[in-house]
Amino acid sequence: MGAPEVTCKKVNCKNLLNELCDFLDGELDAATVEDVKQHIGRCEDCRLLVDTTRKTIEIFCKSEPVPLPQELRDRLHQALEQRLRGARS
Ligand SMILES: [Zn+2]
Repeated sequence: MGAPEVTCKKVNCKNLLNELCDFLDGELDAATVEDVKQHIGRCEDCRLLVDTTRKTIEIFCKSEPVPLPQELRDRLHQALEQRLRGARS
């Protein structure tokens, strides 16, 4: 047993993106879906992000059969990190 297991799946702004892809794909387990929904219900930033991402994926999926490429994941992560840093200063 090597990697530490994440038992607490509390969704926050930072890890929301990790779940977001599966969330939008409908592949998340019910408990995490609830966490994500609760978070975006409270957090306007993430609600906008989910909305934007959903649209991006819809557009992307129409041209490509791939669910979500690593490149797009990376770009979303960068965008969110920049946003979080910007909000702090
Ligand atoms: Zn948030």
